[in-house]
Amino acid sequence: MALAQRLSRLGTETAFAVALAAADWKSKGNSVYPFHLGDINIPTAPHIIEAMNRAIADGRTGYCPGAGIPELRAALADDIGSRRDMSIDPAQVVVMTGGKPVITKFLQAVMDPGRSVLYPNPGFPIYESQIEYLGGEPAPYRYVPAEHGFAIDLDHLRSQITDATVAIIYNDLQNPISAESTAAEREAIARIAIEHDLWVLSDEAYFEMRYEGTSQSIAALPGMAERTVILYTFSKKFAMTGSRLGCAVAPPEVATVMSTMNTNDESCTTHYVQWAGITALEGTQQPVADMLDTLRERRDIACALVNDTPGMSVAVPRSTFYLFPDVTEALPRVGASDVSEFAEMALHETGVSFCTRRHFGRPQPGEQRDYIRLAYSGIDGDQITEGLTKLQHWVASA
Ligand code: PMP
Repeated sequence: MALAQRLSRLGTETAFAVALAAADWKSKGNSVYPFHLGDINIPTAPHIIEAMNRAIADGRTGYCPGAGIPELRAALADDIGSRRDMSIDPAQVVVMTGGKPVITKFLQAVMDPGRSVLYPNPGFPIYESQIEYLGGEPAPYRYVPAEHGFAIDLDHLRSQITDATVAIIYNDLQNPISAESTAAEREAIARIAIEHDLWVLSDEAYFEMRYEGTSQSIAALPGMAERTVILYTFSKKFAMTGSRLGCAVAPPEVATVMSTMNTNDESCTTHYVQWAGITALEGTQQPVADMLDTLRERRDIACALVNDTPGMSVAVPRSTFYLFPDVTEALPRVGASDVSEFAEMALHETGVSFCTRRHFGRPQPGEQRDYIRLAYSGIDGDQITEGLTKLQHWVASA
């Protein structure tokens, strides 16, 4: 007996391997400072939990429609539309078990085997994994350091387009690098999509995880709504990562096939969690504001310490909960031959655990700088100070 050949093309979130190494080091009695996983160590707000418990007590425990309960689809259409200055019909909203399934179902809906999809690299590793698993041609596009962080290398992106290209995955407010498009960059991506008649997956997982300014969606630009699928998730904004609730907002014909995929794959998203989702959207937004205040404080502590560490530097991001410092000059200081060894040494010398650029898609030819990713969503401010101070002393004294 043999397993299916396509499994050789299935990637994963290798960040979970970093978590295992950190857990192992901790089990040996060492302190560990967890900067590796993009989970949130802030609980879901009590009124959302109450709504979930109430829905269970009220017997909302059976199957429900594959596309989601109508009440949640209407609430999402309203909320997502009003925050993006778009008019969204509830029929365009397909509820899913988090944001991640939107990636797979988008690719299944628009990409035949042999077709090519553009995606950010470094970027969320599931894009690359799923394009390859489903038999597509991966077309990574890169970022370049810019005045306040990173910008998409539009020339490189254009150079990756071929006759086989059918879609572009675009993650403004980006994991892992916290890049944020200027209006001009967003418009340039939209022009490219229209010119080459491409579908767009706009991964908006961090749309409301921002500390200043307001987010804009590429879907709201002229000519884009009919070609764009928005990935929306409750995971980050409402600290509901484990509840698994999100949705796609898609053009009607794509929404219909995604709903059929749901019926094939999950039947439906957990019924009572959907009722809690309505409360999250329509109830008090104070917990969201409080969480962002906490995350902003952590960001400021972490950025200051990173920028005080010899050989490390980072621009202060205005969104997400990730830092993507350049550590190129820190590597030779501590005698690390590459960034993976740097991460391993840092764990053992300081307890600071983090992912590196290599966890976010296959490195591309010509990359000359080394980067790590520090997630500050799962670690309190005092632990950030303690951990990054140890890292700073380790690098400085090497
Ligand atoms: N997109 C991006 C860019 C993400 O970082 C994540 C989660 N880390 C997701 C999608 C998936 O989110 P969810 O937990 O809702 O599936």
